[in-house]
Amino acid sequence: MLATGATAAETSRYGAEPADLTARLEQLVAAYPATIAGFDAKSLILKDGTRLPLSDGRTDKSFDQMLDSPDIGDMLAQPYPAGQKPAPPPLNFDPGRVRPEALFRALYGDCRKGEAGGRMRKVAWVPAHGGGTVSITMAQGADKALDRVSRELDRLPARFGKYLVPSAGTYNCRPVAGTSRWSMHAYGAAIDLNTAHSAYWKWNKAGADGTWSNRIPEEIVAIFEKHGFIWGGRWYHYDTMHFEYRPELLAR
Ligand SMILES: [Zn+2]
Repeated sequence: MLATGATAAETSRYGAEPADLTARLEQLVAAYPATIAGFDAKSLILKDGTRLPLSDGRTDKSFDQMLDSPDIGDMLAQPYPAGQKPAPPPLNFDPGRVRPEALFRALYGDCRKGEAGGRMRKVAWVPAHGGGTVSITMAQGADKALDRVSRELDRLPARFGKYLVPSAGTYNCRPVAGTSRWSMHAYGAAIDLNTAHSAYWKWNKAGADGTWSNRIPEEIVAIFEKHGFIWGGRWYHYDTMHFEYRPELLAR
């Protein structure tokens, strides 16, 4: 678990109380019934018998170390603020950006072994806005969820189309640029909107506080969140074109 020199305010904002952790674990199990069997006091238990520790016992991880080697508790520590008005997030508030690789490989497959790519399906992407098709994984029902997103986005007025088309991509078997971490694009469970109207923390060379900006309309964010996709615009390390399928972080 992350237990750095966080202030009391940060702990209350970021840390999961034990009761919260139980509720979040229940939501995690419910979100991926094909792969996750349940949990006990120490582990998340997969259907193939694999046990993933809730805590690795490390209390000294820096934020970057947590991103590089998170446990299940780290993944669930920051509650995703669905439905809130887009606003600059607090320092290192990145709910959903913490992904234990062993879990996500079990959910979607390892793209380097061809396990993720073989599960892709082409779906129509906002045809009313001229979006063509995109590929998305069939694992965990992500394709069906993106279908629902697309149909609902298609009912938005034409002026929303410029944010949605062209999509900047979905499946991409490579680590996050400059890191050894795998993004949800490597699992085929993420979509990027039009880069022309997007902001990304790495594009801002300063990378300092107060650089967050956003032009993605909240109507678009709300539709994705309704169907199980979280938005990178809610992260301190913001990526406003980015949406990924994370139903465990969204109440249904
Ligand atoms: Zn992305």
